Formats: sequence, structure tokens, C-alpha cells
Amino acid sequence: MGKRDYYAILDISKSASKEEIKKAYRKQALKYHPDKNPGDGTAEEKFKEAAEAYEVLSDDDKRVRYDRFGHAGLGGAAGGGYGGQGMTIEDIFSSFGDIFGDAFGGFGGFGGSRRSARTMRKGSNLRVQVKLNLQEIANGAEKKIKVNKYVTCNSCDGTGAQDGSSFSTCSTCNGNGQVTRISNTFLGQMQTVTTCPTCGGEGKNITMKCTKCYGEGIIKDEEVIPISIPAGVAEGMQMTVSGKGNAARRGGVNGDLLLMIHEKSDPELIRDGNDLLYNLHISIPQASLGAAVEIPTIEGKVKIKIEPGTQPGKILRLRNKGLPDVNGYRKGDLLVSINVWIPKNLTRDEQKLIEKFGDSPNFIPRPDSSEKNFFERMRGYFK
Ligand SMILES: [Zn+2]
Ligand SMILES: [Zn+2]
Repeated sequence: MGKRDYYAILDISKSASKEEIKKAYRKQALKYHPDKNPGDGTAEEKFKEAAEAYEVLSDDDKRVRYDRFGHAGLGGAAGGGYGGQGMTIEDIFSSFGDIFGDAFGGFGGFGGSRRSARTMRKGSNLRVQVKLNLQEIANGAEKKIKVNKYVTCNSCDGTGAQDGSSFSTCSTCNGNGQVTRISNTFLGQMQTVTTCPTCGGEGKNITMKCTKCYGEGIIKDEEVIPISIPAGVAEGMQMTVSGKGNAARRGGVNGDLLLMIHEKSDPELIRDGNDLLYNLHISIPQASLGAAVEIPTIEGKVKIKIEPGTQPGKILRLRNKGLPDVNGYRKGDLLVSINVWIPKNLTRDEQKLIEKFGDSPNFIPRPDSSEKNFFERMRGYFK
């Protein structure tokens, strides 16, 4: 998946000053802050994305390389380490936490829960593409998907310690899990409390690591996850199955499983929102004399009646034969566009038959009637 342009993410021009970059980032970060969007995976992604953009554009050296070579110019510096979901919420707070500043006292309760976001590890989200055919989209689908992901190590119960209790109190933070530091921010000097870098906020260190997960508390494994897709979803929609993403290192909360909906194209029916379109070809005799012809629908083949004298281009609307709305509103329709098949290769006998029609008065086009039909059609189509 291609990365978005960093300037576009922060909504700034290429010539933005450092101050403008900072301002723009603060705006995005506050908008998508996890405290303001609890449980919202999309907001979290945007929050991370903004941090990544800021991380690069606020650094003169990285910005020059990015301007010249794009994402490729960053190589391992930012492109690798912070690729996609590489940057955790924790990383962002410990790197740029200052930008929210305690000066923003207006966001009451911000600080308190921010601290919990630091110490509570969250596993990364997993993205899985779910391919659905038109029938599954029309009816909804129950599926089981197999994913390769991080799960809690069953040998140490996710603690990372060999016998489950091989811990010692962290000497850096004396078990508090946090350290205080003085930093210079654009709002002046500030005292901030950050996660202890030695123990990662746990206040304790493992003395003997679990041999199965090497102290991580998680291992790679396969998991079969049942998922339920509602009727009416569309290409590009994203659904979140919370808690089914990667497990976090040593006893945090699981990430989410993000389902990206991909619509398999149908060989016959074309989707247009909740409506379905079908291009029907009938023969000259069928159009002239009328007929009953079979057409495909979501529920299978049905017969529709073609009136005698049906003009090509006529659109038949079959009410409620389209797709259900994902929000439960009314169903779409099936629009059948009628084409009359004009043969291309005729035998000598067939040519003679057609020549006879050419002389017959009723085979001469009637512009007024076809024109009326044309306007009706266009009105119907654009309504
Ligand atoms: Zn283990
Ligand atoms: Zn510590």
C-alpha cells in the first residue's frame, strides 16, 4: 500500500515553515487523539500517520531528503522503522508528547488518560482483505478467516518470564514505571513525566526470560477467526473486529483486526450503489413481436416480459431487486437496459429476408416516437 504525501497529511504547503508544521501537526494530533476517539481504529491510524509526517518534516535533514526523493529518500531512517504501523501510540507520546503541552488545560482529563495510554501496551492492528461476491454482499456473509499473528505465549502466560515470577524491581525508576524529565518545547520549558526507558513502564524487569517467546510474552501462531459481514457492504469499506489483532508484548491489550472489503466483480450484473445494472440483448423479432426472456438477478434467473415494439435503449426498472443498503434503508433496483442485436454476418437467404423488410412502410423509423422514448429514458436514468 502506497504511503500518503506527508504535506497532504498535515494539510500544509511544501514551503511551510517549521512553526506552521508544528501547528499543523498539533491540530491533527488533537483531532485524532486516542483519548478523543476511543476504540476508533481509523482515528488511531491517522494519529500515527500525522506523527510520522511530523517526525520527518520537523527534522531538517529528513525533510530535505523527503523533498528530493520522496518516501524512498528516508530509507531506514523513518521509512523503515515507522513504516505503516511501526510507530506505536506509546512511541508518539514519548517522542512528541510535549506538543500537546500541559498548556492545553482545556482538554480536561487529557493528562490522566494519556498516562494510561503510555503504560498500557497495545498490540498492532492486523489488516486482512475479505473478498466477497455479489451474492455474499446481497445476503451478508459468515466467514472464517485464517490469520498469522502474534498471540499470547502459553508457556509463560504472556508475562515473558520463565517461571511466571522471575522479576526484579526496575532500578531506573524504582518501580514507578515513569521518569521525570525537563524539556524545552515551543511553549517554554516544561517538566514532563515519561515512561521509564529501562522497564518500558512496567516498574520491573525480567530476570529469567521465557525460553519459548524469549521474554516477549507473545509468539507467532495461526488463528481461525469467525467474521460476520453485514449485507450491503461495498468495495473499500473497512470493518473493525476489536481485540482480534496482534497480541501486545507482555500483557497489554490486543490490537484490532481490520477487514478491508473487496468486491469481486460479477460476470453479468454491474453494481451502481445499491442498484444493479444488466445489459440485455434481444433479437429483432423479440423486440418487434414481444417475448418473455430470462435475465439474471441476485436470487437467480427470472423471466421478464418484453412488450411488442420495444426500442433499443429502453430501461426496465425492477423494484427492490437490487442490493440492500448497509445502513438498512430501502433496497436498490435492478435496471435492465435493452439492446436489440443487429446481426453482422448474414447468409444469402437471411439477406433476402431483411431486404423485404426494408421496403415495408412500418420498418421506416419514426423519429417523433423514438425521440419521446429517448427523453423518457434520460429522465428516468438521471432521476
Ligand atoms: Zn513465553
Ligand atoms: Zn523502570
